[in-house]
Amino acid sequence: MAQIIDGKTISQQIKEELKEEAGRLREAGIEACLAVVQVGTDPASTIYVRNKRRACEYIGIRSLLHELPENTSQEELLALIEQLNEDPKVHGILVQLPLPKQMDESVILKAIDPGKDVDGFHPINVGRLCIGEKSYLPCTPAGIIELLKRSGITVAGKECVVIGRSNIVGKPMSLLLLQENGTVTIAHSKTEHLKEVAKRADILVVAIGKPGFITREYVKEGAAVIDVGIHRNSQNKVCGDVDFEDVRQVAGAVTPVPGGVGPMTIAMLMRNCLEAAKETVEQR
Ligand code: NAP
Repeated sequence: MAQIIDGKTISQQIKEELKEEAGRLREAGIEACLAVVQVGTDPASTIYVRNKRRACEYIGIRSLLHELPENTSQEELLALIEQLNEDPKVHGILVQLPLPKQMDESVILKAIDPGKDVDGFHPINVGRLCIGEKSYLPCTPAGIIELLKRSGITVAGKECVVIGRSNIVGKPMSLLLLQENGTVTIAHSKTEHLKEVAKRADILVVAIGKPGFITREYVKEGAAVIDVGIHRNSQNKVCGDVDFEDVRQVAGAVTPVPGGVGPMTIAMLMRNCLEAAKETVEQR
């Protein structure tokens, strides 16, 4: 039976470490500050924003919430981002996605100062990640690397298969695994013989967005399986892209949903915020 990779406990350890770091920054006269912008009232976004603000409060990061109405124009949002870019007291800026349809997400994300882009979505940060330069790492993939490291799972030299090629999860995930010296394959909806491809993996990262899609037929005996998906099933229970009960029979290690990747994403956002605040100390 697989080892359960406990993202809740690991993220809590990280948050304790970050709390100490925030304290040290305060002693150096810096109060780390994250500005969170939410446009509209999407219920899932409201929950994510609330969780991020709670994490800030716990760690000792000041959070500023800007709640804008659903009918806000792109120009109005760009003006707010400009103001936050210019504000020396704001170290990190997060615009909660998805945005209403009158906005072009890529225009908005590019407007954020790359030095305050704690989500790591700005093309400058994506480019830096690609060429192995220091950058703000996208939080979900960075959290997965941290989960693997802190669970004693080595990436170097291993066959890694990432299913999903989104800009926020699949692509940066594959780059980070490559940086850790994994041998990386990226699979997607057009991949032929997906089961065989997935079964090559020592480390299988699943970010498809389809509840319970990955069963034991996709998993090599002893593999580490990381489930990024978040869904509510027909009984309104939170579940992932992996059929947990089935896969744990053959995997060596597996993340549960909830309590796996999700809490790590927020911990990495907090880490990026403190990194951004530390930069301002180093620039003094
Ligand atoms: P996305 O943008 O919808 O991308 C899904 C990817 O899966 C696409 O690349 C797609 O391939 C691929 N795919 C879809 N069906 C497939 C199939 N049958 N076989 C193989 N590949 C398939 O999703 P995302 O933003 O990456 O998110 C994925 C999941 O993770 C969602 O459930 C999301 O809610 C969750 N998520 C969780 C966290 C967290 O913190 N835990 C963070 C972000 C996202 P194509 O490119 O060919 O279409």
